[in-house]
Amino acid sequence: MQEILLATANVKKGKELREILGEGWSVKTLKDFPQIPEIVEDGDTFEANAVKKALTLARLSDGLILADDSGLEVDALNGAPGIYSARYAGEPANDANNNALLLRNLADTPDARRGAQFRCVLALVKQGRHVQTFEGICRGRILHAASGENGFGYDPLFVPDGYEQTFAELPSEAKHQLSHRGKAMRQLFEFFNSNSL
Ligand code: IMP
Repeated sequence: MQEILLATANVKKGKELREILGEGWSVKTLKDFPQIPEIVEDGDTFEANAVKKALTLARLSDGLILADDSGLEVDALNGAPGIYSARYAGEPANDANNNALLLRNLADTPDARRGAQFRCVLALVKQGRHVQTFEGICRGRILHAASGENGFGYDPLFVPDGYEQTFAELPSEAKHQLSHRGKAMRQLFEFFNSNSL
């Protein structure tokens, strides 16, 4: 069984990454290393933050380390909240406050201008060395009110292109087929298939 350390303490993100990885992986996350202090995400890009998260954990394992930095980019807000998605509404950082602020900031934005995308950058590290990054984007639109209980973050507000249900209404397998994270992970699998690590 292949071992992999996921550089995330976000339980729901970790669950999604595990589901997409599927069988055959022995997965650890930051929850297995409570002594590691919180990693400050001070990069200017998703990629910089993902690489920093993965490299910070290199002292814990010589094996595969995978970090996910992701967020929502709203067209009418010039790409905000972007890399600040997790803490958009400030402290305490939580999904309900972030979603409420997003709806307030889009209150005067008509349907035709509510386009948005999720972006995910995965950084792969092995033996303390940054190996590769992988990016996935999922386009969609932002509703006027939350709908659905699945997923996390901005999922109840986001309807992917070609669908009528939010990511929080779709079953998780459907989300993984369409999502930024699913797309980035499938690139990672292609990389594993064509490179021996
Ligand atoms: P990170 O942990 O710094 O990468 O922050 C990711 C943040 O982006 C999350 O806290 C969510 O607010 C948002 N986000 C990323 N991926 C998703 C997703 O799949 N659904 C909903 N929100 C997401």
